[in-house]
Amino acid sequence: MTHDEIVDVPPRIGWDLHCHTAFSDGTETPETLVRQAKKAGLLGVAITDHDTTSGWVPAQQAAQSSGFPLLRGTEITAQFDHVSVHMLAYQYDPNSPQISRMFAKTRDGRVRRAKTMVELLSEDFPITWDDVLAQVKEGSRTTIGRPHIADALVRAGVYATRSEAFGGAIHAGTKYYVPTPSPTALEAVRAIREAGGVSVIAHPADLSRNRVLLSDEQIEALINEGLGGLEVWHRGNAPDQRLRLLAIARRHGLLVTGGSDWHGAGKPNILGENLTDDRVVRQIIAHGAIRAVLPAYSASATNPMACAKA
Ligand code: AMP
Ligand code: FE
Ligand code: FE
Ligand code: ZN
Repeated sequence: MTHDEIVDVPPRIGWDLHCHTAFSDGTETPETLVRQAKKAGLLGVAITDHDTTSGWVPAQQAAQSSGFPLLRGTEITAQFDHVSVHMLAYQYDPNSPQISRMFAKTRDGRVRRAKTMVELLSEDFPITWDDVLAQVKEGSRTTIGRPHIADALVRAGVYATRSEAFGGAIHAGTKYYVPTPSPTALEAVRAIREAGGVSVIAHPADLSRNRVLLSDEQIEALINEGLGGLEVWHRGNAPDQRLRLLAIARRHGLLVTGGSDWHGAGKPNILGENLTDDRVVRQIIAHGAIRAVLPAYSASATNPMACAKA
């Protein structure tokens, strides 16, 4: 993206590049994601479940059969020193050994971590591991997280909603909280680059997730490893932080993206509430290792690479 193409206002039409389904902690299927994105009048949508590609095939089938454009991606759990970092990865080769090994390790770690949290919680709340598994919709293909524990606590009548549980016993500040063992953000960027994808830091300035934010220097270290963009248009980034992130993007020629972080009924975020400009999406497609699903859209796509890939 050239310097003068980055503007200070979020796009009003475009793609929602940050969406979760029941293959991680969203409540809806990839089919529903595609159907709702189409109904909302978006130009296209990306599936970005946590630490998995399990939802890619159903999402691709839904996009093809309903004639709706789709990018395939993942939100990777990572950390940079003490800062928790979520790294969005788009259009990479899902068979890349590094990235699939990284996901397998994180998902195993997530199960062990969730079991430990449930053990601690069960001392004070009526909750078992089976109760948590009962909240998992796609079986072993689902990336387990705190949202599933939250849903089990709701089911047990401890809280009324998932968000209330996040404000209560499963909050990161409680004695029940255990962090997810994660790769470093540098490792994540490297693995994405090796898999031929485009990396974007998700909600880089969300103060509800981190008391200390990534510094400019830390972001620059990620840029040196091949970071592709910043998710500026996200409800978690405050206005002053958006300006800071836009300045970094201009300085380093990064892509500026936006997404809702939709989780279906699991979070208040509305599908399409934040968007990515179509020109940015075309650059992601041009750089990515896999072909985008572009039915109806390919006719207007000026980028021949989009259709040329395997
Ligand atoms: P974990 O990664 O297991 O620590 O769980 C944190 C995840 O919970 C983040 O990805 C959030 O997006 C997700 N989440 C889902 N629903 C909610 C909610 N209602 N409130 C807060 N976080 C939520
Ligand atoms: Fe999530
Ligand atoms: Fe996230
Ligand atoms: Zn997310």
